[in-house]
Amino acid sequence: MRRGIVSMVACPDYDPGRVRDAVERAVELIGGWDRFLPAATRVIVKPNLLTAGFGERPAATHPAVVRAVVEAIRTTGRGAFVFDRPGYGSLRGVARTLGIGDLLLPFEPPPARLESRLGHFGAIERADFDGAPIVNVPKLKTHGMMGLTLAVKNMFGLVGLARRVEWHLKAGTRYDHFAGLLVEIERGARPALNIMDAVVGMEGNGPASGTARRIGCIMASADALAMDATACRLVGWPPERLKVLEAARRLGVEFDIAPETEGGRPEDFAARGFRFASMPGADPARPLSVPGPGPVRELVRRWSLDRPALDQRRCVGCGRCVEVCPAKAISMRGGSPAFDLRACIRCFCCQEMCPEGAISVKRGILGFFRRDGVR
Ligand code: SF4
Ligand code: SF4
Repeated sequence: MRRGIVSMVACPDYDPGRVRDAVERAVELIGGWDRFLPAATRVIVKPNLLTAGFGERPAATHPAVVRAVVEAIRTTGRGAFVFDRPGYGSLRGVARTLGIGDLLLPFEPPPARLESRLGHFGAIERADFDGAPIVNVPKLKTHGMMGLTLAVKNMFGLVGLARRVEWHLKAGTRYDHFAGLLVEIERGARPALNIMDAVVGMEGNGPASGTARRIGCIMASADALAMDATACRLVGWPPERLKVLEAARRLGVEFDIAPETEGGRPEDFAARGFRFASMPGADPARPLSVPGPGPVRELVRRWSLDRPALDQRRCVGCGRCVEVCPAKAISMRGGSPAFDLRACIRCFCCQEMCPEGAISVKRGILGFFRRDGVR
């Protein structure tokens, strides 16, 4: 069976039994656990545990999916443990809030390094599991910088927060560089299997402040890129214009942009009218880019870039946005955040991590000239 094949199994809700059945079926359709975890005695399960405290908003991989994957692997006689590095808060705290604290890897893994081929970021540093295979369990969500956060992007959670900040700063508004970095991290970590929670996805102002959108599907594939291309089709995003897939092409990574599926077809689960994030990199109808030579482009960019904007009525003055801003472009004034737009690199981490959904993205004044506005 080809590595790039993607299975799609209906799963209408998060009933634990139904989720477990869907996970088992999805893996079985592409060859079964033994095919992907042949010699493993211990397996790392990597969900998207962005943070806790987002109430009903589906910002993290649903705990029922995480538990189903861990229990299914353990049933095969292998050990399975959850690991992630949340964007805000401790792993233990976030996992406990989500009710999966008992599944965590009991130790902090050391870093592994590999030289980035891109040259913008230096060595890539991510958690190392001493050869234990990774089962990647992403959530289908919109994302301001990358358009969608799917299987490839989920591997960024293996990176320590200090490095994430450093790389956000190095990438700046070059989202193409950042997408390349994500591909390199995924290729380095190379999950043995990807199982996507697309039962309820997030549409709109993702990856944290959007709204729930029922899709009703669990997907599995050994190839994160093939899985992302298929997920694009579920929500109506042209896969060839997803930034991580564009970057994979540029890096010469081979993958199938229209992979074969088993169990179901993308059109069976199509979420019609799916709303994307209203952000620079997030609208597939506006592919690229500011025309003209470098200095002109720089000038236009300064005036055209979308920017973070505060909804004063929602803000509770918690200061989390100040803490997570990699560019130190936010300060608290009179109990509210104030943005220094000259320092701001438009990473939208503040929007991503605001627990109240009080930060949105305001369109730049020259949006007319811009198609995605960021390069
Ligand atoms: S904008 Fe959000 S993160 Fe920032 S202080 Fe207000 S509520 Fe907290
Ligand atoms: S203000 Fe927000 S968008 Fe700008 S650099 Fe800071 S976190 Fe990123």
